[in-house]
Amino acid sequence: MSLASVVIVGAGHAGFQVASSLRQEGYAGRIVLIGDEPGLPYQRPPLSKAYLLGKIAENNMLFRPAEYFETQRIELLHDQATAIDRLNRRVLLASGGELTYDHLVLATGAHNRPLPVPGAELEGVFGIKTKADADALSPLAKQARDVVVIGAGFIGLEFAAVAAALGANVHVLELGDRPMARAVTREMSEVFRKAHEGWGVHFDFRQGLARIEGDNGRVCAVETSDGRRLPADLVVFGIGVIPNAQLATEAGLAIENGIKVDAHLLTSDPQISALGDAACFPCLQNDEQPTRLESVQNAVDQGRNIAARLMGKPAPYTALPWFWTDQGNLKLQIAGLSTGHDDTVVLGSLETSELSVLCFRSGQLVAVESCNRMGDHMAARKILSRPPKLTPQMAAAKGFDLKAWEAANRD
Ligand code: FAD
Repeated sequence: MSLASVVIVGAGHAGFQVASSLRQEGYAGRIVLIGDEPGLPYQRPPLSKAYLLGKIAENNMLFRPAEYFETQRIELLHDQATAIDRLNRRVLLASGGELTYDHLVLATGAHNRPLPVPGAELEGVFGIKTKADADALSPLAKQARDVVVIGAGFIGLEFAAVAAALGANVHVLELGDRPMARAVTREMSEVFRKAHEGWGVHFDFRQGLARIEGDNGRVCAVETSDGRRLPADLVVFGIGVIPNAQLATEAGLAIENGIKVDAHLLTSDPQISALGDAACFPCLQNDEQPTRLESVQNAVDQGRNIAARLMGKPAPYTALPWFWTDQGNLKLQIAGLSTGHDDTVVLGSLETSELSVLCFRSGQLVAVESCNRMGDHMAARKILSRPPKLTPQMAAAKGFDLKAWEAANRD
């Protein structure tokens, strides 16, 4: 390959994957991975779950130990990229330095959407994005008596499950009418609502937050939109994220719900790629609509795709999206995108919380949500990776088994 250097901005899941896949693909040139967080690159998913419960050690969250970066000649630079000079192919750094690139990769991720209410700046109010957030939150979560969670999405509910397990009174405020409404079916929302209530979590649906009250600079209560006052010694919010697209915007790259990329994950400048939470790509499983996904699978598979392209093996990005969330003793795994589904078939039991919900759109299987059914999830990933021939009628037949169907219908 003729590229002498690849510079990657952002040392999270996506940036690390590009660097590591480039070496796996045999790239021998210079790789610089610029990250503005301290320490070695690490995985985020445990931050809102196992890490807060002390069930995973810090070292086990790292992608690789320090020696890996040395032996693989991946230069990890703790700095912040502040501007891109596209004409001269340079990245300017907050430290005052600069780096030239032959190819630039933007893996800048996303930041938490801030809480738009008075009191959001008080001590004891947290979003969870970085290890630093989780380290500051962890001791407070262990002592908290009254916890209010804003937003019943994945992160809010993962934290609600943790706080309930740690013995707090947990109150969740959610503007929608059910948990994880943007991501899962009504059936699955119901399973998680019941499970959380069983752990002692109290839900307030169709309820917003008016303000957060403080006492000596520390949170002491929240006021709901309908004027109720809930005591709170800890508030955790998860109300969505905003892609980190400022560098790309200022550099004049096309922006559309994040950094706009084509099917090969190239930005409007062919010398710059973008991926992960920051990038919006034409998604095969979403009718090629511009789509931005926030998941480890997306960051990792896009990282591999870009590395392969840079090594002369271009292919449009078509990987099947999949996600997971762990809440208490429930593991939810989702294969595919359920957007616009018009029919569902439930396998298993809502009562035991061991089930899969098959989502169909115009008779075509588009997604499978599996709760505590790992086998179904793995089968679903295989089935959805090629045009699935499974119909709702077949799935609804008595005794239907997804794993057996997959095994019997392999090409
Ligand atoms: P990130 O991992 O966010 O990395 C981006 C990095 O770039 C950050 O370190 C940022 O500080 C840095 N950066 C930004 N701008 C600059 C700059 N100008 N200069 C230098 N550095 C810069 N996904 C799942 O699939 N399952 C889960 O269970 C799950 N749980 C999660 C729990 C939490 C608490 C969080 C926060 C996320 C979770 N996710 C989960 C989502 C998943 O972690 C993200 O989708 C994934 O990390 C995206 O990777 P990324 O590299 O695009 O962004």
